[in-house]
Amino acid sequence: MFKRVLIANRGEIAVRVIRACQELGIETVAVYSTADADALHVQLADRAVCVGPPRAAESYLNVPALLTAGVESGCDAVHPGYGFLSEDAAFADLCVKSGLTFIGPPGCVIRRMGDKAAARSLMRGSGVPVVPGSDGPVADSDAALRLAEEIGYPVLLKASAGGGGRGMRRVDRPEELPALFQEAKREAESCFGNGTLYLEKLIINPRHIEFQILADQQGNVIHLGERDCSIQRKNQKLVEESPSRALTPGLRQAMGETAVAAARAAGYVNAGTVEFVLDSAGRFYFIEMNTRIQVEHPVTELVTGVDLVREQLRIAAGLPLSVRQEEALPAGYAIECRINAEDPAQDFRPCPGTTKFLHLPGGPGVRVDTMLYNGYAVSPYYDSLAAKVVVHASTRLEAIRKMRRALSELVVEGYPTTASFCYLLLHHPEFVQGRYDTGFLAGHMEEILAWEK
Ligand code: ADP
Ligand code: ADP
Ligand code: MG
Repeated sequence: MFKRVLIANRGEIAVRVIRACQELGIETVAVYSTADADALHVQLADRAVCVGPPRAAESYLNVPALLTAGVESGCDAVHPGYGFLSEDAAFADLCVKSGLTFIGPPGCVIRRMGDKAAARSLMRGSGVPVVPGSDGPVADSDAALRLAEEIGYPVLLKASAGGGGRGMRRVDRPEELPALFQEAKREAESCFGNGTLYLEKLIINPRHIEFQILADQQGNVIHLGERDCSIQRKNQKLVEESPSRALTPGLRQAMGETAVAAARAAGYVNAGTVEFVLDSAGRFYFIEMNTRIQVEHPVTELVTGVDLVREQLRIAAGLPLSVRQEEALPAGYAIECRINAEDPAQDFRPCPGTTKFLHLPGGPGVRVDTMLYNGYAVSPYYDSLAAKVVVHASTRLEAIRKMRRALSELVVEGYPTTASFCYLLLHHPEFVQGRYDTGFLAGHMEEILAWEK
């Protein structure tokens, strides 16, 4: 096992990784920008190294500074968390060149799956169903028009390098396509430094169902069941749960086996997620593979009892998976709410501020992953995710009631958060019945917001 791990991230996920390391007896080295000198991950790690000024491009994305921090502090491995450099193949390769094990898949695998257009082609060639659409990138808006005519509107223009729900445009009519193509391309260029687009048929209001994968260096590949992440705002997840109400045992088995086949086709190693959209007729299609730990991983941890970050560390150290497919059986129901420092009443505008008072919920079956503490100032420079409240109970209804109870215990003073919105959502009859898809939030936004007034 590793002796000392560099955590190339911040926020709640850096805290999560530090905890896993400490439980395995591994020393931790945190990195931080000057905006994060007081951050929780800096205080919890054994050592901390400043890697630059507040702007992520100059600190958490500053590859030379991160590698130097890792090497000079005597680390033997790097955990990238999610976001930042976690899906950067060049970074993974450079870690290895610097003598640091990258806790994730090899650079070549990240490269293979990180280009979403290329990943689609690979999956299609391996018998994994993909959404009808382009074979690889679309060169220009004329090519997109021709293809859209063939597969039928509405279509979705997507960024090959996309992530976080950005660089996507729905196109309903050919007249709109040229302008939306330019818009998507510009957004992809500015967000990802790569304007390459591809095209998919828009599946109308599907469920977002993703499978957690674990693959070790010995060639064992298993899945740990699904997460239903259909509660989304602008293609960004807000509430996630497992197991999904939308899957029958047969469909779950078929999707799980397909996810494992997808991971095998990619030559996958470490923890990853295969994402699908599921249409109302029960047909499912691969959309992408995330080659990293996911924000919503605790949902799977609670239903399976498997510590996914611990497995990541073990796999990277060359140890075999500590669970077999037959043992990875989910028990009960788990739900996660993302508590973002955002104002739901103002179109979820990020609202960073100082945490004037904080009280976290507890009690049986409640877990909170957060970097917040009393007095901590949420930084305007980074993601607005401030905490994740996750609950586990034996039935779905009990899990819903537990989450309502947990959210009503939670007190965050100093800035608005998504907690109150999630609380209301958990009372919506259709959510309670499990009857929701990725169009649910957009369709019920006004209704839910009005309950608060
Ligand atoms: P998850 O699929 O784990 O729920 P999200 O899509 O919410 O992940 O993304 C997790 C974090 O990573 C967010 O901060 C998001 O902005 C960031 N992120 C995801 N993909 C990319 C990418 N390609 N480039 C930059 N940031 C990304
Ligand atoms: P990102 O890399 O930003 O996470 P994804 O490809 O995973 O992008 O898509 C994000 C979300 O957009 C999905 O969870 C789903 O809600 C929606 N989406 C993506 N592709 C399609 C599609 N072909 N049809 C309908 N919805 C889609
Ligand atoms: Mg995705």
